[in-house]
Amino acid sequence: MGTITMLSFETESPNKNAAWQGMLLDMNKFRADFPIFAESVNGKPLVYLDSAATTQKPRCVIDRVANFYAAENANIHRGVHRLSMEATEAYEKSRRRIASFLGASDAREIVFVRGTTEGINLIAQTLGRSTLGPGDEILITGLEHHSNIVPWQILCEQTGAVLRVASIDDRGEVIREEYTRLLSEKTKLVALSHVSNALGTINPVREMIAQAHEYNVPVLVDGAQAVPHMAVDVREMDCDFYVFSGHKMFGPTGIGALYGKASWLKELPPYQGGGDMIASVTFDKTIYAEVPAKFEAGTPNISGAIGLGEAIRYLQDAGMDRIAAYERELLEYATSCLMEMNQIRLIGTAQHKASVVSFVVDGVHAHDIGSILDMQGIAIRAGHHCAQPIMDRFGVPATVRASLAFYNTKGEIDALVTGLKKAIEMFG
Ligand code: PLP
Repeated sequence: MGTITMLSFETESPNKNAAWQGMLLDMNKFRADFPIFAESVNGKPLVYLDSAATTQKPRCVIDRVANFYAAENANIHRGVHRLSMEATEAYEKSRRRIASFLGASDAREIVFVRGTTEGINLIAQTLGRSTLGPGDEILITGLEHHSNIVPWQILCEQTGAVLRVASIDDRGEVIREEYTRLLSEKTKLVALSHVSNALGTINPVREMIAQAHEYNVPVLVDGAQAVPHMAVDVREMDCDFYVFSGHKMFGPTGIGALYGKASWLKELPPYQGGGDMIASVTFDKTIYAEVPAKFEAGTPNISGAIGLGEAIRYLQDAGMDRIAAYERELLEYATSCLMEMNQIRLIGTAQHKASVVSFVVDGVHAHDIGSILDMQGIAIRAGHHCAQPIMDRFGVPATVRASLAFYNTKGEIDALVTGLKKAIEMFG
């Protein structure tokens, strides 16, 4: 990274659509909020198409975290001094913001965790460990990230439960008949991704949750790839648990949240023991704190939680519906550009998709494509995307994945297409 080169929407390919032009003007101002886009990579303007791995951070989030350490730093929930009380209030304010962002009915339904992975492990090791036994079944889908597979496999080893998987079809959609068939009296837990990180498929979670509830089965939704791209309402969805990562939604790394229905969180045993999760401790007996403190043992990632609150404030100002509409247009554009290239085969062509185009290029390994694009300042992901079963399903070792966010432009997609043509020329 070095010299400053600003990519702007002026590089857009011409588009006569008035609505799109209006939306462009509207969204243009947000890109300037991200300092990283003033950087260049390998002497080229940065074209960042790897937001599914992690998103870039707006200045307000960077400043909020820096200011916490510069002027507000203190531990929370335990000090009687002013800084500690203010840090506690800032941390709890973030919790309230997350609750309103997700449509939760109460801030106590939000537990701070390291991210999606920890949120899923928390449910596996509390709800799963305390209620599952031999022969019970956990149902997931063929679309899951390793984070929504491995914790359940560990749980199965610990309890004797069995993992069932509803597979996906050639478009990358869950085969609903299979999901319906696999749901039964034996099912004790369902875990589904809202949006697939590898293919971009949006699962019809509302209907799938309703089906599971007919068997009184609780459902966890992995929202890592949904919350940055669309409005989410956990009460309308009626999920029992919803997890996401701050770093994939313009916030800091090492922080995320688990939403859980109050009735569930009250019932569950603690996840980890330590400070802050107790009401009282003697050597004979410990009484646990109320939720959500019961699940937040030890000093948490205070600055991360506060930075995440700021990221959510920023997203709410931008408007999730506006973001979703803009990204839909970008995704359609990217898809149609890639479909025009004969050597490219799209992997994942579901009817409802968000923010991801995954593809393979005839005769060129995904990693070679990644390296050639990198030389042109274009950051994409090449690999299995922590979703090896999906690669197996499509019979490929890896894909090239371009993943979008609302700071991307059609000009950047044009740059991707040019870069791909170069790579094909070199290797094809
Ligand atoms: N689930 C999905 C769908 C993801 O895309 C990811 C990360 O890419 C995760 C879970 C894991 O998220 P984290 O590594 O932030 O815990």
